[in-house]
Parts: sequence; C-alpha cells; structure tokens
Amino acid sequence: MRELTIYRELANRIQARLNCIKKGDQENAVYWTGEHEKCIESLKDLLPSGSGIEGISIDLSNSTGEKIIIDSSFHAMNDSGYYDRWIDFSVTITPSLIHGISLKISGRFGKYQDIKEYLFDVFDDSLRETVKEYYCQNCEEVYYRKREELHSCPVCGNKLQ
Ligand SMILES: [Zn+2]
Repeated sequence: MRELTIYRELANRIQARLNCIKKGDQENAVYWTGEHEKCIESLKDLLPSGSGIEGISIDLSNSTGEKIIIDSSFHAMNDSGYYDRWIDFSVTITPSLIHGISLKISGRFGKYQDIKEYLFDVFDDSLRETVKEYYCQNCEEVYYRKREELHSCPVCGNKLQ
C-alpha cells in the first residue's frame, strides 16, 4: 500500500498516459495507456460530486502532468431555494512553488460568484487529500481508497499489502 496525494497521483497518471501514447506500439504501451486511464477514472471518482456538482470529467486531451483540467457542472439554487440554471465550469490546476498547486475556476457564474468561491474550496481541499493505493498482483488492478483500509482484493479476494 502506498499513501498518495490525489492531485500528484492524478498528474503522474496523466503524464504516464501521455508518455505511453508517445511510445506508440512499443513495450505494451497500448495496454499501459488503458491502465493509466482506468486509474485516472478511479481518481476522478474521489473528487467531490453530489450536492450540486455533477458530471465531473478530466479533459485528457488538454491535461498534462503540469496542468490538469477538470470539467463539470453545478446546479445553482436561487434565493428562494429553487433550482435555477446549470453552470458549466472548468477547474485548471497548475503547480505553485508556495502552495503546491494553484487552482483557477472558470465559467459563467454571473450573480453566483459565491458558488465560484465554494467550488474553489471544495476542489482545493479534495485534490490535496491523501489516498491509499492498493495493487492486486493477481488481477493486475489498482484500487484507491480514501478512508477504509483494503485487506483483500474486492474482485479475487487475494491478500493485499
Ligand atoms: Zn484481485
């Protein structure tokens, strides 16, 4: 088991995927591209969703190890407590010497500027969280868990270290 920071593991997997794509057909590069994509998908599931945030996707065509773009939508609620419109937004994550990462949220927030600040905090906290990475040698699968410990593989029951 390894303990990892979510944003760093995401950046590592995104860069590793790009490196595999560059290799073309050599050294099982197609297989590994798929493996990294599975990991990116699992890491994406650890990002905040629900309570208004829906449809999180990682823009793999424009993300690199040094810049990650996350696209999503937020269902805004008006002052009377009714659902208003969906706000499509992007979170761009870049490295920062002082803070480790720097986030930029963009989208047409209009009168909902407080939502922009809210999303900033929620994504900033969640990307900095640590996650435990488990690997099952039998299934050749990677599992990420935030809080619970995984002692055996959820698929084959193999003991995990
Ligand atoms: Zn297994």
